[in-house]
Amino acid sequence: MFDKQTKSIFIGGKWIDVQEKETIYNPTTLEPITEVAYGGAQETEIAIQAASKAFTVWSDMTGRQRSRVLYKASQLMLEEADRLGEILTLEQGKPLNEAIGEVKGAANFLLWYAEEASRGYGEWIPSSIKSKRMLVIPQPVGVVGAITPWNFPSSMVTRKIGPALAAGCTVVLKPAPETPLSAIEIIKIFDRAGMPEGVVNLVTGDAQAIGNALLLDKDVRLLTFTGSTAVGKYLMRESAEHVKKLSLELGGHAPSIVFDDADIDLATNLVLASKFRNNGQTCICTNRLYVHESIADQFTALLTEKVSQLKVGSGLEEDVDLGPLINQQALEKVQSHLKDAIEKGAQVVVGGGEWEGNLEGCFYNPSVLTNVSDDMLIMNEETFGPIIPIQTFRDEEEVLHKANDTDYGLAAYIFTESTNQAIRASEKLEFGIVGINDVFPAVAEAPFGGIKQSGNGKEGGHHGMDEFLEKKFVSIGIS
Ligand code: ADP
Repeated sequence: MFDKQTKSIFIGGKWIDVQEKETIYNPTTLEPITEVAYGGAQETEIAIQAASKAFTVWSDMTGRQRSRVLYKASQLMLEEADRLGEILTLEQGKPLNEAIGEVKGAANFLLWYAEEASRGYGEWIPSSIKSKRMLVIPQPVGVVGAITPWNFPSSMVTRKIGPALAAGCTVVLKPAPETPLSAIEIIKIFDRAGMPEGVVNLVTGDAQAIGNALLLDKDVRLLTFTGSTAVGKYLMRESAEHVKKLSLELGGHAPSIVFDDADIDLATNLVLASKFRNNGQTCICTNRLYVHESIADQFTALLTEKVSQLKVGSGLEEDVDLGPLINQQALEKVQSHLKDAIEKGAQVVVGGGEWEGNLEGCFYNPSVLTNVSDDMLIMNEETFGPIIPIQTFRDEEEVLHKANDTDYGLAAYIFTESTNQAIRASEKLEFGIVGINDVFPAVAEAPFGGIKQSGNGKEGGHHGMDEFLEKKFVSIGIS
């Protein structure tokens, strides 16, 4: 399954062997899967040089020419979705159907940006001075450093490099150390799709050394990053030296609000999907649930029944809903949130305890908590695991205030059948994304991104490509 290329880095169109290697482990069994190259600052610098050289060629091509390569890559990804999905499950642990779904979604980002590559429109500004003409030309920012996380090893890669490449930028990609294999497969596909040399480069290895090399080189004009708020802040501070552009998708603490007129069956299904997809390891997962007191008992009973039916196990087994958490640290965080909540008076309605399966990975029983108070860790910090804390509320103003009372501002969800309530609440929620009776906002054609400490910039939609385009103003005097 894994060839020599898997153990190499990809620079200037060539697979290059590096001496140091790192073992990648299967989070389900804790067994080694394969080794990958362990690159560092030196490899990153060479990759940046290759990307700088290729920028001249790639940015000079027409959008339509760039589109062809992206389109071909998206086709190849779709053709190989089953194989790529299996690799994704092996390295990340999520159920195979979710993994294949992610790969198809990832291919869709490439398709959408293949289409968008031809549409980098500029502007003609009507002049207030008769002897002047004014033009705005969009131009690619230059070399992009892309740093991706482990929770979506495939779609985070294409959501970043798809629009960057469509805009005419070249890329140095650093995937998460836990899940480099999906990224390596995507790069192989770009290679097969005929990507000119140096346009996409991949360095796996030492996160800090690679990250710092990207920060220190002034030829890297933009960093696009998805990960923790702490690392996002670090990149922001260090980018100041060269005034780099930044596109940051950071942490979240999504509230879900179930109003009294919600369709309870639908709302429980969607909360379930939002919380337990990828085992709660997404930055837009419901982290806290507010249910109107008049329906709280009915809602909690139905949700609890559905949660108790979820199957935990190996993502390669059929009918499994939740795989393992990514590592021990993730498990400890989830356990600490549960312990803190219990100490402060929460009741475990379902879940908690030790998972009793026979796999070595960091599994956790999906859990529902009631009697939850605002001072609990789980109501304030990103849990990144399968626990739903439920609080009840009485009125709209009170619940919207609570929902907004966080430094994060990525996604929020509301469940209601009332259009008035939905519009009112979505306008008042201080989040970059609001789902109304919907928990799947990450699509290729729409802007995804946070406000406050959840980051800046958008991914997806034409907004996603805008991130990679400078707007040059050309001021023309005419006689
Ligand atoms: P998470 O908690 O989701 O793992 P991180 O922010 O730690 O989030 O990691 C997200 C990505 O950022 C990964 O690719 C990781 O290797 C990378 N990363 C971590 N530390 C640094 C750093 N100092 N410089 C650059 N990238 C980093």
